[in-house]
Amino acid sequence: MSECIFCSIIARKTPGRIVFEDNLVVAIEDIRPQAPVHLLVMPRAHVDSLNDLKPEDEPLLGRLFIVAARLARERGLDTQGYRTVINNGAWAGQSVAHLHVHVMGGRVFHWPPG
Ligand code: 5GP
Ligand code: ZN
Repeated sequence: MSECIFCSIIARKTPGRIVFEDNLVVAIEDIRPQAPVHLLVMPRAHVDSLNDLKPEDEPLLGRLFIVAARLARERGLDTQGYRTVINNGAWAGQSVAHLHVHVMGGRVFHWPPG
């Protein structure tokens, strides 16, 4: 998946602000933040979207959200609240085909999203 921008950032071939990484997941700052805090937590190994997860990926899915919550807490988002979003496929607005959890906070969000 050499053409995947997120794989390229993870491999340090493309610049990116990596804020967390472990054996399963990597978190970066979104290049076009839509909130005061806008992070993307993603699997280290390429997966297109939730559609491609397998039963054995349960620990990965857990880690994505544990790390998302930890990063939100570290940034003081947990008291007022924050939003986690996964866009899957064209109609949901997924623009990068490497599964990622948006972690957004620091402002009020509305529901339903557009
Ligand atoms: P999606 O639309 O797939 O749910 O989210 C993709 C996100 O990746 C967008 O919020 C977009 O701003 C971000 N993004 C796209 N290209 C890059 C990049 O090269 N570096 C970083 N850090 N974020 C990117
Ligand atoms: Zn990738």
